[in-house]
Amino acid sequence: MEKGELLYEGKAKKVFATDDPELLIVSYKDDATAFNGRKRGTIRGKGVINNRMSNLLMRLLAERGIPTHFVEELSERETLVRKVSIVPLEVIVRNRSAGSFAARYGVPEGIVFAAPTIEFSYKNDALGDPLLNDSHALALGLATASELDTIRIYALEINAILTGIWKSCGVTLVDFKLEFGRLPDGSIVLADEISPDTCRLWDSATGEKLDKDRFRRDLGGVEEAYQEIMRRLEAQLQAGKKDQQS
Ligand code: ADP
Ligand code: UDP
Repeated sequence: MEKGELLYEGKAKKVFATDDPELLIVSYKDDATAFNGRKRGTIRGKGVINNRMSNLLMRLLAERGIPTHFVEELSERETLVRKVSIVPLEVIVRNRSAGSFAARYGVPEGIVFAAPTIEFSYKNDALGDPLLNDSHALALGLATASELDTIRIYALEINAILTGIWKSCGVTLVDFKLEFGRLPDGSIVLADEISPDTCRLWDSATGEKLDKDRFRRDLGGVEEAYQEIMRRLEAQLQAGKKDQQS
């Protein structure tokens, strides 16, 4: 697959055209940003880890019936994906209080919810990704009612699957952000990435943060945390494969 023109450079990835109009190449960078771009830095090796982790998780989700944009891992940092028209919503699922939820409602981090919560924000950097509800999304024409229903069903199913995978790695999936897109036939698929940049992942035993909060909050050991969380996932998947063979 030929890498074509650079179509877009975002905060964490570059997106390239290919010779197939329905396919794109995404290239993962080591650049890290937080607080809507006000904090910037580099996390050495992050692009390699996020590329590999996102692809592993999307493959597992696809096996469980979730349609995704993933096509093929091309290299350490590059993946071929189906081109979608991104639904401009950040879909956030939470199992425990943390981050902006804890701040907004004045509660400590780590409260375990009886049931997961789901919220949308408008994917718009200039506005700081404001929170919105279904009627706002409909009023702004960001998605149809039936697309919102589909997105909600997929997001909660993805949460159930990912929570189980991370639990088997000794990790609590606290919250995460998803993006969905439309294929040319109008169907909704999971797009973008699932990685320590977009999830909060806490060691189940110690509560240690193994995600981008180490960068956001200057906790140190950022690179090591990304390596550790990747190591745990790969070890668990290897163990799973051995179980299947025996
Ligand atoms: P940001 O745009 O927030 O800085 P990134 O650096 O991760 O984020 O850039 C990747 C961009 O590619 C995002 O805007 C994301 O919505 C978009 N994207 C992800 N997957 C696809 C896809 N399959 N087709 C088209 N665009 C995609
Ligand atoms: N998140 C993300 N991109 C964003 C905003 C949030 O990937 O632009 C992820 C974040 O990593 C966390 C979850 O979504 O896992 C919930 O984030 P929250 O709303 O608490 O915001 P934050 O504290 O990151 O500002």
